[in-house]
Amino acid sequence: MVRVRYAPSPTGTLHIGGGRTALFNYLFARRYDGRLILRIEDTDETRKIPGSEEAMMRGLRSLGIVWDEGPDTPDAGFGPYRVSERLARHREAADRLLAEHKAYRCFCTPEELAEERKARQAQGLPPRYSGRCRSLSEDQVRARVGERSVVRLKVPGDGETVVHDLIRGDVRFGNRIFDDFVIMKPDYTPVYNFAVAIDDHDMKITHVIRGEEHLPNTPKQMFVMEALRMEPPQFAHLPMILAPDRSKVSKRHGATSVEEYRDQGIILPALANYLLLLGWSPPDGREILTVDEAAQEFSLERVQRTGAIYDQKKLEWMSHQYMTRLAVETIAEMVKPFIDYGLDTGPDFVDVVALSRERAYTLTQLAEQMRFFFEPPDRYEAKGVNKHFNPGTAARLRLLAERLLDLKTWDHDSLTGLYDQSAESLGVKRAELIHPTRLAVSGRTVGPGLFDVLELLGRDAVTERLRAAADRIESGQVVMAE
Ligand code: GLU
Repeated sequence: MVRVRYAPSPTGTLHIGGGRTALFNYLFARRYDGRLILRIEDTDETRKIPGSEEAMMRGLRSLGIVWDEGPDTPDAGFGPYRVSERLARHREAADRLLAEHKAYRCFCTPEELAEERKARQAQGLPPRYSGRCRSLSEDQVRARVGERSVVRLKVPGDGETVVHDLIRGDVRFGNRIFDDFVIMKPDYTPVYNFAVAIDDHDMKITHVIRGEEHLPNTPKQMFVMEALRMEPPQFAHLPMILAPDRSKVSKRHGATSVEEYRDQGIILPALANYLLLLGWSPPDGREILTVDEAAQEFSLERVQRTGAIYDQKKLEWMSHQYMTRLAVETIAEMVKPFIDYGLDTGPDFVDVVALSRERAYTLTQLAEQMRFFFEPPDRYEAKGVNKHFNPGTAARLRLLAERLLDLKTWDHDSLTGLYDQSAESLGVKRAELIHPTRLAVSGRTVGPGLFDVLELLGRDAVTERLRAAADRIESGQVVMAE
């Protein structure tokens, strides 16, 4: 039975890297009918941020990720699912390693260690603990009980450790690069590399799927497991996420947290779709696929080794694809939280969404582009005013308003006909009527097809807005917007 885990440290919100890791674990679990475990890795008290656990869970849910076991589910026999609540188990394992002389107490003070590091540096050697306390006798240790100490694991000084990575193949580490690293801190609580090895074993994790930045930790976790006579799980390290210039992704490349994207109005299923392509692709190479669809086809064999490029523009493109492909009622529900104007007067909401969504990439944009259907414009785009509101415009807008009041049937075709005839009788190009009309009714220079807009807005609103614009032009009181 496949059991995988996503193990965030509660130090903030879910960022795209974590979201991608969680997603790949979820896809893998679903593909092989396994289980996904959410484990909160709160080993570092000092970095814990209140509310972060909830924020992580919200972020995961908004990507459509469902976990089978976690801090908020009934214990399936593998809990607790917060690492801080597993302390007794970690202490018991450390006790055992001490008793078996596979680990030892180290009394070196931070000052002594700093000195040692400096001395090595001066010789051009990498920092590495000398192993000074390894040789303390039991009596010496007993005599110092009560003094500040840590526990270190005895690491083999030679040979090599091979990580059989399911994505990268065999990755070899010379054991000489590792020193006897700390497994228990002075307060006798575990460090990450110790707790994670025990927890993965105890939770019967079969595959550890995580970011490449953890690859150097893997041999250390294997040392721990070996010392505790535990069978290691399989490992798969996902490629780094890089910016288009191949640098490390950071804030300046756009938002980096899932909740920030939600707040910006990126369509969440599109974000999930985008993230699942960061390092993986389905066999047929298609780009638009939901989490459910990806779960049918996911495999680690198709995960690439090279860095995955994260591109905000591509994400927005993806959001646009979902904007136009999802059911219009679904988009209507999604856009509601972004609307800060009343919907009581105006056309049918879903009709407005249907007409407006073609031009929107995010829900924020969509909400803004729909505004004029529900609120008459009180200002007009500056570049439109300069181009389309001329001395002669007011009279033309009034004439159009009059003719529109007399129009027999209020639909797209009749409106088109009316504008054609008016252009002819006034001896102007149709565009010379269309542009000022669009600006007068919407305050904008671009938008959906004008006759669709007019049809949906309705006769009263259209004629009122044409006259209001004419009044403002004549009285020189046109307020311009950006
Ligand atoms: N708590 C670690 C992190 O947030 C996860 C490490 C792991 O997956 O083993 O990066």
